[in-house]
Amino acid sequence: MTPLEKILTAQIKAQGPISVSDYMAICLFHPEHGYYSTRDPFGTTGDFITAPEVSQMFGELIGLTLAQTWMDQGKPARIALAELGPGPGTLMADILRTAKAVPAFAEACEIHLVEASQRLRKVQAQTLRNVTPTWHDHTEELPTDVPLYLVANEFFDALPIRQMIRDGDTWRERQVGIEGEALTFGLSAGAPLSALAHRLEDTKDGDLVEFCPQAPALMQSLAKRIDSNGGAALIFDYGDWRSLGDTLQALHEHEKVAALYKPGESDLTAHVDFEVLVADLPCAHSRITPQGIFLERLGITDRAQALAKNLSGTDLKQHIAAHRRLTHPDEMGTIFKTFALFPSGANPPAGYET
Ligand code: SAH
Repeated sequence: MTPLEKILTAQIKAQGPISVSDYMAICLFHPEHGYYSTRDPFGTTGDFITAPEVSQMFGELIGLTLAQTWMDQGKPARIALAELGPGPGTLMADILRTAKAVPAFAEACEIHLVEASQRLRKVQAQTLRNVTPTWHDHTEELPTDVPLYLVANEFFDALPIRQMIRDGDTWRERQVGIEGEALTFGLSAGAPLSALAHRLEDTKDGDLVEFCPQAPALMQSLAKRIDSNGGAALIFDYGDWRSLGDTLQALHEHEKVAALYKPGESDLTAHVDFEVLVADLPCAHSRITPQGIFLERLGITDRAQALAKNLSGTDLKQHIAAHRRLTHPDEMGTIFKTFALFPSGANPPAGYET
């Protein structure tokens, strides 16, 4: 048993089963034994590799889009350049390096990072040691008095989800309980749920639907800031317009494992329901775009060729593989999607369409 499994077992014995969202939140962010509290899971030696770790081209193209958006919106003298869940800080470092190509943009940026893990904050401070970021626990704490230029890559997939199984016009919640000494899934009694009213249209008895309770309020707070003060938010994650079925996924040492395997030592994520992220926002948003198409529109092939000129041997092979990995439909090109928020009446950032 992992230390966290002992804690969870004792808690469930004393107080009864917990929701999948509580299980996720405890496994990822328990202050002592949570996955993100105890490790730096990124890169080839960790459990997973994210787009900024695959290649610097990802952050470079995002940096250029942000700089272009800043010029299109009248070059405000002060802006908040913010990231949700920066992980090791690589994406922000690549954005800032590229931003130097537009010096007035780089000078306008105050860096804000929303990060729940104290341990990862230390890694970010080291990666971004040439700038002075301000860290926040919640999106609500981001500045409200300057334009907001925000990126989030693989942030929403780490937000806890509830899993509900349809039973007539009610929903039974999937819970984590105990059988013998082992954690096991069970179901609550059925109850109606207004957050899933729209899913009575496209589901039948027994279907499993997921929803992320934190996502709508978080998106509203970003959208309000962007509509009032200007800026843009570029969101990248994997998932689809509307999710159906169980997408809770655990990863341990690059392997898919069962969702209840080694709590606190496995990463837990779920597919993102993009429909919910863009529902009823008080600002404009782009279409949901496959990541590969977005990067091709911004010229990733030209950038890849320019970088390739200085590479040979294994480095060149790795670089070609990284380009393919970010863009090819069989790799991250289609399952990963992106969309942008921007002020009502403004043009979408480069790479996006309405
Ligand atoms: N964006 C990075 C890391 C993605 S992993 C990359 O692309 O490599 C998810 C990141 O989000 C981690 O830094 C994690 O600690 C952070 N995170 C997850 N849920 C969070 C929450 N509710 N509040 C703040 N940070 C969170």
